[in-house]
Amino acid sequence: MRIAIVKETAPGEARVALVPEAVTKLVRSGHDVVYEPGAGQAAEFADAEYEQAGAQPRDDVLTDADVVCSVQPLPIDQIRRLPAGSTTISFLPVAQDLERVAALRDAKVSALALELVPRISRAQSMDALSSQALVSGYRCTVVGAGMLRKFFPLNMTAAGTVQPAEVVVLGAGVAGLQAIATAKRLGAVVRAYDVRAAAAEEIRSMGAKSIELELETLEGSGGYAREMTEDRAQRQRELLAPYIAAADLLITTAAVPGRQAPLLVTREMVEQMKEGSVVVDLAAESGGNVEGSVAGETVRVGRADVWGGSNVPSQMPSPASKLLAQNIVNLLGLMTGEEAALALDFDDEIVDGAFVTHDGVVRHAPTREALG
Ligand code: NAD
Repeated sequence: MRIAIVKETAPGEARVALVPEAVTKLVRSGHDVVYEPGAGQAAEFADAEYEQAGAQPRDDVLTDADVVCSVQPLPIDQIRRLPAGSTTISFLPVAQDLERVAALRDAKVSALALELVPRISRAQSMDALSSQALVSGYRCTVVGAGMLRKFFPLNMTAAGTVQPAEVVVLGAGVAGLQAIATAKRLGAVVRAYDVRAAAAEEIRSMGAKSIELELETLEGSGGYAREMTEDRAQRQRELLAPYIAAADLLITTAAVPGRQAPLLVTREMVEQMKEGSVVVDLAAESGGNVEGSVAGETVRVGRADVWGGSNVPSQMPSPASKLLAQNIVNLLGLMTGEEAALALDFDDEIVDGAFVTHDGVVRHAPTREALG
């Protein structure tokens, strides 16, 4: 089948859905791969590398594609140019993007949303949320380390001892655990908190101290967190306040699927932090864990500099694209039948869960209901 790689057009998107290494694998599996010239440029992959890997440059990759791969969903005018029966693979935030879902349905395009790939063991190698969260967790920690005008590690020198930085991480999912690991490698003293009971052991296994609060844990379905009641949120903020006041660097990564990010840290709590302290809010784009954080900007709150993450994986576009491309290659492997043609088996829970539209129908029930 013909697999197309598009050049991303969304502002700030530097990643590419398939890297040359992935093209080599797809060509070896018998696929025909075409790419828009410059598709990998922002992620540091040259056109020559795509050609060497066996992909053909094309000015129009859409009109005869079987599968179109992109990081961000295609603009609606491009969706309308896709052949009926073709497939798109991209991130597709369905709840915020109903108009685009309707366009995909009307164009009879089968759209796979990378966010909807079920978080089950068998799908781990296809889990783009995890691969990109790994990049975000690392990146936000080194950004915080760069902003902090202090050492991370303990230094015992003839001229005296320099104490290590104190880092607090809130939210210990994939990104939070990577943030903890990165801060530990740099030598900081790390404390972390998450509402899920299982997280405490994971935090400790990374070498950090788990912050134990006298509060009920909040497990939801699929190993995710549940939303907090306002009472519990208030109590959590009160109990966390002294830990935050003592931190040199606060990193927040908390999320609840399908909801706005929980507000974990108020402006008053940030105002209690020391002169020169730094806050990194990875959830700034989805409402923010920290009051006052702004996605894509650094703002001053009290005596702290507060950095709001905005498309953080795109800030390390080359490794982020490599990981994402491998997720997509694995998904394509799952969905390819004989003769290197796409064979969608909706009895497979990964395929069933991930496809938003197929054959003129919105398959994803909450989105179908929202569209009316
Ligand atoms: P996420 O991005 O939805 O949330 C990040 C973290 O924020 C989670 O750990 C969550 O518990 C935490 N959080 C939510 N509300 C909070 C609050 N009020 N205070 C503090 N922390 C709060 O989560 P994620 O990183 O995508 O993963 C969450 C879970 O799913 C983890 O248990 C992870 O191990 C699991 N997972 C499983 C698979 C798989 O089996 N394929 C893949 C990825 C993740």
